[in-house]
Amino acid sequence: MTKSKYICVQFSDMKTNSLFDNTEAAFQLKNDSQLERAYFLFRMIANEPLVRIGTAVTKFALNVNLPVEGLIRSTVFDHFCGGVNEDECMPVVDNLHKVGVRSVLDYSVEGKEGSDQLDATLNKILELTDFADTKKAMPFSVFKPTGLGRFELYQKVTENIELSDEESQEWKRLESRFDKASKAAYDANVTLLIDAEETWMQKAADDLCEQMMVKYNKERAVVFNTLQCYRWDRLDYLKEEHRKAKEGGYKIGYKIVRGAYLEKENERAEEKGYPSLMHKSKQETDNCFNKIMRYMLDNLDTIEIFIGTHNE
Ligand SMILES: Cc1cc2nc3c(=O)[nH]c(=O)nc-3n(C[C@H](O)[C@H](O)[C@H](O)COP(=O)(O)OP(=O)(O)OC[C@H]3O[C@@H](n4cnc5c(N)ncnc54)[C@H](O)[C@@H]3O)c2cc1C
Repeated sequence: MTKSKYICVQFSDMKTNSLFDNTEAAFQLKNDSQLERAYFLFRMIANEPLVRIGTAVTKFALNVNLPVEGLIRSTVFDHFCGGVNEDECMPVVDNLHKVGVRSVLDYSVEGKEGSDQLDATLNKILELTDFADTKKAMPFSVFKPTGLGRFELYQKVTENIELSDEESQEWKRLESRFDKASKAAYDANVTLLIDAEETWMQKAADDLCEQMMVKYNKERAVVFNTLQCYRWDRLDYLKEEHRKAKEGGYKIGYKIVRGAYLEKENERAEEKGYPSLMHKSKQETDNCFNKIMRYMLDNLDTIEIFIGTHNE
């Protein structure tokens, strides 16, 4: 069992209004021992030194093939992951669907390098898209750009660095993987969510997402890119993409999130001495999130929205 085989379940489409206050509704799918395990886990996770040591020890144990998978499986894995394959996830997906919650099967792989590995990831995404097509509880498919291409290649394209012949071929294969994943979602009538990652590789991924939207979003938004609202340039970017979509006669779709790489982004900007693209405070990020959400909700005739947050 390797990390790249884990499939997570993410939730969407909550139907209850005050779910977070109503613990009876929020935890109705958990029994007492699962709740006790969750309480224990979160107490452990809140302890920073313990997390640091635990992560290092676990990595070491996995590297030297110590038999720790059973322990991981019965603690962290079972709480945070749906299963290691789509069939294993289905009982969780079905239980959630009974209470009006739909799921996304997320094949959590990123940072792969070789063509074979990247093609294997694409094949898994295509399989999951087909699988989602048959399940009302899962109207989405999802991938991370670095699951389908090498990080450094995205970075070179983002930074306008000329590619060697070999790299140009590699880029063509990457474009083709994006296209296959988007076409599969289009054919299966499934919505495809494409994650956003680090700013120094993201422009190349954004441009590819835009090309996919032009091609597959004529009738509805099949392809969704992600807007990270901790970036101060994203509202202007959205407005510009919206202008192009209206002019080109296609729909745009965005998952909006606050953003997952804040510390890494600020550290890199400081280290390399360029102005960070991050907002300066949580409040500014929240304001940006709300403005972007407002803009999208005001333009639902041409924009589709998916809100990715843990906040009610
Ligand atoms: C379904 C789903 C899909 C996601 N997909 C992506 C993705 O594709 N790409 C991605 O990057 N993330 C993604 N995320 C993660 C997301 O970006 C957030 O990191 C995470 O959801 C926490 O934000 P929140 O809105 O839930 O919670 P909150 O606790 O309200 O917000 C925490 C976030 O606020 C921002 N923040 C905190 N402190 C500061 C500060 N001092 N200055 C500026 N900003 C600050 C950071 O972005 C931080 O993650 C996804 C999350 C979900 C639920």
